[in-house]
Amino acid sequence: MDTEELIRKCKAITLKGGEEGKVSFKSEMKSKGEKIVAGCLIGKVLTSRNVNKEGLKIAMQQAWQTIREVKIDAMGENIFIFRFAAETDKRRASAGGPWHFNGALIIFTEPTGIGEVSKQSFTNASFWVQLKNVPIMCMDKGTISELGAAIGRVEEVWTDANGECTGEIIRLRISIDITKPLMTLLSLEQEDGEEDAVPITIQYEKLPDFCYCCGCIGHQYRECTKFKNQAKEELLYGPWIKATTMVDKLKQHRGKERWNITTNEQKAESSSNQIPLGITELQGQNATDRPGQEDGLNPTRKSKEAEMHSMQEGGFSRLLDKNGQTPEDVTSTKKIARQQELEGVKGKEGKLLKDSQKLSAEQEEENGKKKGKMSGKK
Ligand SMILES: [Zn+2]
Repeated sequence: MDTEELIRKCKAITLKGGEEGKVSFKSEMKSKGEKIVAGCLIGKVLTSRNVNKEGLKIAMQQAWQTIREVKIDAMGENIFIFRFAAETDKRRASAGGPWHFNGALIIFTEPTGIGEVSKQSFTNASFWVQLKNVPIMCMDKGTISELGAAIGRVEEVWTDANGECTGEIIRLRISIDITKPLMTLLSLEQEDGEEDAVPITIQYEKLPDFCYCCGCIGHQYRECTKFKNQAKEELLYGPWIKATTMVDKLKQHRGKERWNITTNEQKAESSSNQIPLGITELQGQNATDRPGQEDGLNPTRKSKEAEMHSMQEGGFSRLLDKNGQTPEDVTSTKKIARQQELEGVKGKEGKLLKDSQKLSAEQEEENGKKKGKMSGKK
């Protein structure tokens, strides 16, 4: 029986005259309690399976590389209290992420009110989102923020060292409502309606298990109420919603590097019967196509997640800009748009009306500047 149902049943008894004990929550109690609340986070693992507390503890400490031990207590229904001894550890856990446990998203939240667990909300999680096919005229931080606001609450727009956000991929950190299907497309409409709306695709970095049938996080398609035994390929959503991250690229690079080194070594030693070291890495890479496998904080996997994560947060797009995209990335924008066109997608699409007057004024000003410069040179 879950806690809410238990409360309801107990209240029903007191309503019928059953005895009810009364306790007043005094201010001295409250000040002690505030200290506990300040050092903790509440996390919910979104999975239908029961989560093992010890496994979760090992996985999270590995991922966070905490300075001090993190104490974890189960609160029922895959909700846990994480108590941090160091403020930096707590900051890392709350500001980083999204965090997964065996492919299942963990939603962390600061306790609200006096910390009544049944009153906490686990509806939002922050993701780094990648937008593709963003028109050049929209590559302004303010405009990007407006694009992002159609997806969720924008927390950060990634900019390069010069404070600019131009390039094939535009990155934003957005807090999204995970009770709704993942949005996959923004439609940028122009006020004058002269040109066709511009499709802007949305992909999510470190996306955990989600349903390929309804597009919601927290269950897989076989558990979905909308699943009608279709073939996996016929489902609207797929692993292509997951954005390629710097971590993925590093893995690919390392896999190739190891493969090359091993192959050369093999040639030298003529030991063709041995399995090259790199194969494990490459197989692991292929496994990323399976939902929930790639970023799950599997305790058995001695991952370099934390190290890679910080690299991803720090310099992903900068490196992306320098390195360019993999062939897969180059085609994925078209793939998504094409797939949705073919399927007449009824998924979530954000509609945006471009402030064309403002943009064209800016453009004219910019052109004026350029003309001025050019004429000045002559
Ligand atoms: Zn579903």
